[in-house]
Amino acid sequence: MMTLDALSQKDIITVNADKLNSFLSTFSLDESVWVFDFDGTLIHKWFNSFAPIDHCDLDSEWVLVAMKQYMICIENSRSYEELESSLISEDLILPQAALRMKEQLDFESFKNKQMNHWWDFTMKKAVERSVPMATFDLTDLSWRPWAKKLIQDLLERKVQVLIISSGIGNLIRYAIQASGFDLDHPCLHIKSNDFITDKNGFCSDYDPDLITPFTKMHVDYHKYGISDKKFAIQAGDSLGDAHMVTEHFEPSTLINIGFTNGKEYKNNTFPDVFDVVFTQKDSSFDAVAEVFLHNTTNLEKK
Ligand SMILES: [Mg+2]
Repeated sequence: MMTLDALSQKDIITVNADKLNSFLSTFSLDESVWVFDFDGTLIHKWFNSFAPIDHCDLDSEWVLVAMKQYMICIENSRSYEELESSLISEDLILPQAALRMKEQLDFESFKNKQMNHWWDFTMKKAVERSVPMATFDLTDLSWRPWAKKLIQDLLERKVQVLIISSGIGNLIRYAIQASGFDLDHPCLHIKSNDFITDKNGFCSDYDPDLITPFTKMHVDYHKYGISDKKFAIQAGDSLGDAHMVTEHFEPSTLINIGFTNGKEYKNNTFPDVFDVVFTQKDSSFDAVAEVFLHNTTNLEKK
């Protein structure tokens, strides 16, 4: 069994070792729900040929990442640079508005208002243009090491898994299915922003229940099997992910796992909200599986 000391020799920093030890002393896998962000957390990058989505940093890239992800909905036949300039020239994006959003990140109400507006706007644009959903290239889909195995193990053990993304649900389901998962698995839940497609696979409408990186905590999680769960493990790569199900659990029964390439950690924001922080961009989920799955199994065998 891997110990917490051993983990600290890797690229993990146990920001809150006391809490983690206390959590593990009562933790039961069967009574837990696992909540994952998608982009940057489970998946390193995808749709690379259209939008180079790499690690998402709150204070620099995340607005652009979100924009890129939505831009590919609007047009997918050009390179990202061509796409960006054409969108700006077509007034689909106001560069000043993007800049304002980045400058105002500290103001929660402004930020959320802008984000909600942007999400709604881009979904509308995709519908107006009847964007086809079936033409996205998934060949560059790249899972974080051990992320796929962890999800597989959890589902095999009938543990509830929620994937919460402010991206596009249709594409995420497609990507998850392409990776061999059964979308009808009773323990697998995906909450994202969904387009409704016509019989030819073109966007014809969208579910107005949109979520942005900072409204993930407003999802009705009771729909997704958390009501009778005693423990939650929540993993993400941006600060908004640290609040997904937090309000539904006692602090002592929830562990927050953060993945970062270091910038947010250096800014001292990550340790404030995440109990465990991985500091490398390519950090693996194997340590998480080792501690929370195998440790529990060992305890159960005693
Ligand atoms: Mg993310």
